[in-house]
Amino acid sequence: MTTRTTIRIPGFRGDVIAPDHHDYDDARAVWNGTVDRRPRLIARCSGTADVAAAVRYARDRDLEIAVRGGGHNVAGAAVCDGGIVIDLSAMRAVSVDPVERTALVQGGALWGDVDHETQAHGLATTGGIVSHTGVGGLTLGGGIGWLMRKHGLAVDNLVEAEVVTAEGEIIWASASDHPDLFWALRGGGGNFGIVSSFRFALHSVGPIVIAGPVFWPAEDTTEVLRFYREFVTDAPDELGNIVKLTTIPPLPVIDEHLHFQPTIAVASCYAGPVEDGERAVRALRQFGKPLLDLVGPTLYVDHQSGLDATVPHGWHYYWKATNLTGLSDEVIDIVAAHAHRATSPRSYAAMFHMGGAIPRAPRDATAYAGRDVDHNIIVHAAWLPEQDDTVRAAETAWARAFLDALQLHRAGVYVNFLDSDDDASRVREAYGDDTYRRLADVKAKFDPENVLHNNKNIQPRTPAQ
Ligand code: FAD
Repeated sequence: MTTRTTIRIPGFRGDVIAPDHHDYDDARAVWNGTVDRRPRLIARCSGTADVAAAVRYARDRDLEIAVRGGGHNVAGAAVCDGGIVIDLSAMRAVSVDPVERTALVQGGALWGDVDHETQAHGLATTGGIVSHTGVGGLTLGGGIGWLMRKHGLAVDNLVEAEVVTAEGEIIWASASDHPDLFWALRGGGGNFGIVSSFRFALHSVGPIVIAGPVFWPAEDTTEVLRFYREFVTDAPDELGNIVKLTTIPPLPVIDEHLHFQPTIAVASCYAGPVEDGERAVRALRQFGKPLLDLVGPTLYVDHQSGLDATVPHGWHYYWKATNLTGLSDEVIDIVAAHAHRATSPRSYAAMFHMGGAIPRAPRDATAYAGRDVDHNIIVHAAWLPEQDDTVRAAETAWARAFLDALQLHRAGVYVNFLDSDDDASRVREAYGDDTYRRLADVKAKFDPENVLHNNKNIQPRTPAQ
């Protein structure tokens, strides 16, 4: 098929992709294959000026706007039906200043881009645990990852941001410039403007770290979680841990006879010297009778992409998530009872260990609201596009029942883990009333008409509210 698009956006140098363009179907696809939206236009920006031009074009024509960073939002917030997608996916440059220890990262970069450039200097910042996730959406919601207990959340490392406002103006936000906007950007999602560049603080990490997963049989879930609860209580800040309740993935590094066996895995990453890391994970590796132990010295940059193949683009996904009040025996029993009831071997539940540097930051320094949470859980239903509606129904029912069972143990939710059927009440749950109200004030100042609403939306506060 030839390209026929003739639409011109004044002042725009990137690609304009309309439904008759040969790239249209690829350009409107996002990570979650259940999302099937047909925008009128995709404006693939080549830089900040293009972002501003696209915003002005959309405003002049009253077009609905969706903003695409890495396209990983499970609810498909990066695309809309009928409107314009302001697509940042061609804006992935990362430039490192090794003296200042900062990285300037364009708004459509993926975490793999950041790790690649920063690790060339032995540096890193807290980013996502899958390298094909976008920096944009992940950072604006808070940003949790292996390094967060030592170096804080992604938002704690954000130094400044270049923002295209809902009016199409270009401004910088930092602690000294537009501090209210800077506060809101750090946790409030894509509600306040389109970030064309992020500047992050960097830290010495690796390049070799102690990292990897230990797998035990699913029958041992209760014992492993009880041990894990004590293990992480004394864990140093350098140690990041994630529990995964799933089946063993069919990866080339794993013996075939173990593929798809139900398991509980604890994956770790130690952001410090290798010898200290070996000491920090010893008790974990010695617990019980592991099926498989893949912990060892590894390149940090490889560890950051180790999970990529387990969550590829295009599979069908559905999430339910909550922060937990703690890991009581009751919570452990609920998790053990539900985790392995998924019928799809690709589904899993994951629990992130938080704490460390996160609660040490002042509560009101950023809009991220979950600083006192020690553990959260995401129930991640996944199945193949060719599987029929019976599988979809079974997996979504599993995820919902899992969350319902945890009802008495919920303590808010991480906004970036909310799916499309998580309504406005869950957005409020993510922030709590005080933070939500403050965000609504900033929204009223920077986007009073709620032009940027394809996100977990903060409604602008009106004077009467
Ligand atoms: P997109 O779908 O492109 O965007 C998500 C939202 O952010 C949209 O509303 C979009 O408009 C807005 N947005 C994106 N970029 C910009 C920008 N530059 N300026 C303004 N608005 C923007 N989260 C974690 O914290 N840690 C993890 O380790 C982690 N791992 C994940 C792994 C996978 C496989 C997936 C699918 C998600 C993961 N997440 C994680 C959740 C992740 O934070 C969210 O899915 C997030 O929305 C992804 O951002 P994105 O830019 O890729 O998504």
